[in-house]
Amino acid sequence: MNIFEMAHIPLNKAIEVMQLDAGAAAIIATPERTLEVSIPVKMDDGSTKVFTGYRSQHSTVLGPAKGGVRYHQNVSMDEVKTLAFWMTCKCAVAGLPYGGGKGGIIVDPAQLSKRELEALTRGYIDKIAPLIGEKKDIPAPDMNTNAQVMGWMMDEYSKIAGQFEPGFITGKAIGVGGSLGRTAATGRGVVVAALEALKLQGIEPYEATAAVQGFGNVGSWTAKLFCDAGVKVIALGDVNGAIYKADGFDCYDVDAYAKKTGSIVGYPGSKPITNAQLLAMEVTVLAPCAIELQLTKENAADVSASIIVEGANGPTTPEADEILEEKGVLVIPDILANGGGVTVSYFEWVQNLYRYFWTEKEVIDKQTEMMIKAFHEVHAKAKEYGVPLRVAAYIVALGSIAEAMKIRGMV
Ligand code: GLU
Repeated sequence: MNIFEMAHIPLNKAIEVMQLDAGAAAIIATPERTLEVSIPVKMDDGSTKVFTGYRSQHSTVLGPAKGGVRYHQNVSMDEVKTLAFWMTCKCAVAGLPYGGGKGGIIVDPAQLSKRELEALTRGYIDKIAPLIGEKKDIPAPDMNTNAQVMGWMMDEYSKIAGQFEPGFITGKAIGVGGSLGRTAATGRGVVVAALEALKLQGIEPYEATAAVQGFGNVGSWTAKLFCDAGVKVIALGDVNGAIYKADGFDCYDVDAYAKKTGSIVGYPGSKPITNAQLLAMEVTVLAPCAIELQLTKENAADVSASIIVEGANGPTTPEADEILEEKGVLVIPDILANGGGVTVSYFEWVQNLYRYFWTEKEVIDKQTEMMIKAFHEVHAKAKEYGVPLRVAAYIVALGSIAEAMKIRGMV
């Protein structure tokens, strides 16, 4: 089964439970459009290399397509389509006026020089330009892309459009229309969701421990904001390995160490552990914040956490979901838990449209309020239908998407 088919398993459960209109279910099953592009780049050694990229617009029913662009050697059309589908559902759960989209380029960016990376980024925008725009499809950062990449994309698109176009892209630096609070936003949302789940279980943050897999933008901010909230973070992992500290990490210090050395591994005073040990760690909260398909039928039974909060997109397979449900682990699904990033992207877009900027406090307060509301909406649906939070989140998303389809005369 490929990842796109896998992603439909909880969706189909939701469709069945809520008895969704067959037409709406059929529309949601496939992306509206997916573009494959080839991007020639003049490399530093004088040769020309051709890269493959994608942009998929899964849905524009609730608004323009919205979602990040990923640079990774394992990017595929299937993965991009799946991630675009998750964005549609994520935006609907968060209550944003957006559909869902995603892009990606097959590349290991660590192998490119800065100039090559910029040329690739500009070439990608040139190729997808007819599809994107402030009211059509709004890209953002995802794995291995950041504010600098967004800045190049904004510049390239503005040149093509012949005018300043900050609203066509989010996750930009503050100097070109970015929003305060955007960098930490996904991690902040993950922590807000986890704290709400702890509250439901009657656990105070200072009584809780956490393990975080992944130390990119999402993982590092999740870890740091867990520390701020008083949760003891005892295990951390990145692509190079994992580390453990029984009395908890100062995650800001680990971050500074990782920025200096390129990895969290070797952090003074930590004990090296394996990724498998990290995922099986006896903690209150496990936060997979790395990449898809991390909790599988092979390792789900080893999970000792009572709450899983998905910072990554699609870290848990449907088989793992079943095992975790049987074990009584509360899984806060990706399309709810990691919606904080796109929520603040939405705030950035609004600020760009108005050319009027908010304080960081305004951003954080609004984000927190929206995420808590979404959490309780999903939790209430889970109770109403007697289903796990993941299926409930799809029920919430499908509810608003199907309603819009009906009003628009699509079904
Ligand atoms: N790439 C992020 C995600 O998967 C953010 C998308 C956005 O801000 O549009 O949710």
